[in-house]
Amino acid sequence: MPDENTIQELAARLHGQLLRPTDAGYDEARKLYNAMIDRHPALIARCADEADVVACVNLARELGLPLGVRGGGHNGPGLALVDDGLVADLSGMDALAVDPAERTVRVGPGCTWGDVDRACGEHRLATVSGIISTTGVPGLTLGGGHGYLTRKYGLTVDNLLEAEVVLADGQVVTANADDHPDLFWALRGGGGNFGVVTSFLFRLHKVGEVLAGPSVWSMDDAEAVLRRYRDLLPTADENLSGFFAFMTVPPAPPFPESLHGQKVCAIMWCWLGKPEELDGALAPLRDAIAPVFEHIGPIGYPALQGMFDALYPPGLRWYWKGDFIRTLPDEAIALHVAHAREMPTPLSAVHLFPIDGAVHRVAPDATAFGYRDCHWSSVIVGVGERLEDDDVIRDWTRNYWQALHPYSAGGAYVNFMEDEGEERVRAAYRGNYDRLAAVKSRYDPANLFRHNQNIRPAPV
Ligand SMILES: Cc1cc2nc3c(=O)[nH]c(=O)nc-3n(C[C@H](O)[C@H](O)[C@H](O)COP(=O)(O)OP(=O)(O)OC[C@H]3O[C@@H](n4cnc5c(N)ncnc54)[C@H](O)[C@@H]3O)c2cc1C
Repeated sequence: MPDENTIQELAARLHGQLLRPTDAGYDEARKLYNAMIDRHPALIARCADEADVVACVNLARELGLPLGVRGGGHNGPGLALVDDGLVADLSGMDALAVDPAERTVRVGPGCTWGDVDRACGEHRLATVSGIISTTGVPGLTLGGGHGYLTRKYGLTVDNLLEAEVVLADGQVVTANADDHPDLFWALRGGGGNFGVVTSFLFRLHKVGEVLAGPSVWSMDDAEAVLRRYRDLLPTADENLSGFFAFMTVPPAPPFPESLHGQKVCAIMWCWLGKPEELDGALAPLRDAIAPVFEHIGPIGYPALQGMFDALYPPGLRWYWKGDFIRTLPDEAIALHVAHAREMPTPLSAVHLFPIDGAVHRVAPDATAFGYRDCHWSSVIVGVGERLEDDDVIRDWTRNYWQALHPYSAGGAYVNFMEDEGEERVRAAYRGNYDRLAAVKSRYDPANLFRHNQNIRPAPV
């Protein structure tokens, strides 16, 4: 813990506010999206600009303080906050500039994807991001990033053109294909291990209104649906995206009352092609097994991105585990259905997000994200509303994951991991791990940035 003089000096140097546990606003500032996490940092610096980030990095390095870096605060295991250390809270650094002529957007690390989608949507432009608009830009991007646009336009990192980074020694550098290319390679999937990103530049694509919405089937049809989905999607037109879900139907429109509270399987479609061609794209699945409910229609892309925000507001309790999936044999599908039937709470769910198409056209060693031969990024989420739910959602998630892990490609998307230890981090990067460790030792040899899915610096 720094002494009083040091704290006063930091407070005077910062353009933003410095919060201590006794300050008004401290408890609000340490809240994360996942209410299961309850960390107590010694200091929270609400950074107003890059100079504030540099001040935090320098102080943490000089005093050997644990350093947390907070973007949107959506990370499952709550890695944005550290107990008894200093947190650089970037949520106020939310500058955003769209360049419609160049088809790029420059984004501050305090922006959520909702901020980006709305600003770009005004120009009928978008980049690749996740399916909940309150998620932060930095954590999602640095882990890889996948969503509705992924089959057509790749991962979020495949659309990252440049990043400005505060390094462990306090230097500020720009990383792109020409400057610090090794750092730029590592940032595209390697998480927050290499520095604090203070600005992202993304490529944009023409995306206006899309056709989107769910098809829902009874659990009795789930095995057959998942088999057809497995066969359909990898060869489908890249204008089609659809993530598979096991879920409980929420008691709200557009779902009919007869389905409320029922466990079902569903596919949440998004179609970027000509409207009249969607039926043909869905026919192999939908004509074979009739859905019990469907609600697919035109929607602006920013609205689609916010569709699940109300279902999953901040403050729920989450435990999740993931794995990348290359193939889904029939016996794995049977196990999925058996475990999904036991979903312990109405908000618990399982999602299979497609990561084929454009993702496969980038070489596995071209960026730090290594699983470019897989078809899905899977996540099992136990979600509760009360402390009493914690054990049951944890047990269900772990048992489900253990049953399916043998059918996985070995590792998980880092943004779908709990704090699971070094072997799991290695598995998340497989062939790219050693190169990441070498870049880490160049940019952060003392492992200042270690409150993340940590890559240990390679010995030099
Ligand atoms: C409901 C929900 C839905 C999701 N859906 C998707 C999805 O569709 N697709 C997908 O790809 N992911 C998805 N995710 C996962 C998401 O990518 C991660 O939770 C991600 O960590 C969120 O980023 P954040 O900025 O909000 O995280 P934070 O919790 O703020 O930070 C996450 C990690 O990144 C580090 N970090 C934060 N900011 C910076 C920075 N500026 N520089 C360096 N390091 C930094 C932190 O230290 C921490 O280790 C979802 C998450 C939730 C909760």
